[in-house]
Amino acid sequence: MKLHNFNSGPSILPQSVLEEASRAILNFNDSGLSILEIGHRTPLFGEVLQEAVSSVKKLMGLDDSYEVLFLHGGATTQFMQVPMNLLGDGETAAYCNNGIWGKKAIGEASLFGKVEVVADSSDRNHTYIQKAFAIPDNAKYLHITSNNTVEGTQWHQFPETTVPLVADMSSDIFSRPVDFRKFSLIYAGAQKNMGAAGVNLVVVKKDILGKIQRRIPTIMDYQKHIDAGSLMNTPPVFAVYVSMLTLRWILEQGGLAEMERRMLEKSNLLYNTIDSLPLFKALVAKEDRSHMNAVFFLSDPELEAPFLDLCKKEGMVGVKGYRTVGGIRVSMYNALPLESVQFFCDLMKVFASRNG
Ligand SMILES: *Cc1c(COP(=O)(O)O)cnc(C)c1O
Repeated sequence: MKLHNFNSGPSILPQSVLEEASRAILNFNDSGLSILEIGHRTPLFGEVLQEAVSSVKKLMGLDDSYEVLFLHGGATTQFMQVPMNLLGDGETAAYCNNGIWGKKAIGEASLFGKVEVVADSSDRNHTYIQKAFAIPDNAKYLHITSNNTVEGTQWHQFPETTVPLVADMSSDIFSRPVDFRKFSLIYAGAQKNMGAAGVNLVVVKKDILGKIQRRIPTIMDYQKHIDAGSLMNTPPVFAVYVSMLTLRWILEQGGLAEMERRMLEKSNLLYNTIDSLPLFKALVAKEDRSHMNAVFFLSDPELEAPFLDLCKKEGMVGVKGYRTVGGIRVSMYNALPLESVQFFCDLMKVFASRNG
């Protein structure tokens, strides 16, 4: 049976990327060695890293005032590394709390300085994005989560700020054209929309660094990673390689405009189906719905388990909602074909007609 992979992360990758990556495990670029066996300072890996960095810059339309880093760890590492590098003792950072990941970022930042939560959607279970709020003038930066993977909300228009804007883009990076120059720092764990787990993409505007007094451990210091060209120590070679292949795939497919076109086709189909069937209900404010992760519920909670059983039987993988939210979550990352969403929507209709 063909599986339809709606996993929230690690998640679906393009088939061609998986095929090329498996060939590289046996023999990388006819070198006679596996990608897992080559030195990270060899020209072989140098080319991989260089292509990954230049693809990011090309997709984001960034000039040399920005640096692109591939660092160890997940986005969770960045929750700590961002304030460690940008927020001095006693200084203030502004954060938006729109869900579980933003809240964790707030928790880590408060270890380094003062956190002012300027917008908070917890009053309505994070089913919307609060867009009007004031940012203190003395804030070193404003931190947002561009797409709330768990709650299913997404910023469709980014806030205007006078302070540097920092974004966790883990779950919608490279899904749509964005004016990336609005941001001073962007980070993303690779395993949602860009590659394999184990590596973080960090894009940083150089002028925000070097402004605090704190002594930063070497491996945590963005400036030192820039100076070392992401080769301070052994990077996660294979994970960087898979990201490079995925970035190449995005460019070959037509770049971010094409990713957005596919994204809208998939998410419109799904949300229209949800809205047309009284058996299903989405609680997220329509204008804030995520195009990457659709979170919704059965109007009759008793029907949730039978619906999930049916999904499983029909080869739908990863559609159970996050453990603290429940319900259904359908993740529609770049590599997910429209056909999978079509399949899922057909199944919703069949289930609705049986239980209507
Ligand atoms: C998955 C996710 C994280 C956590 O990523 P890890 O790589 O597991 O640390 C953080 N932020 C967002 C928005 C996510 O979707």
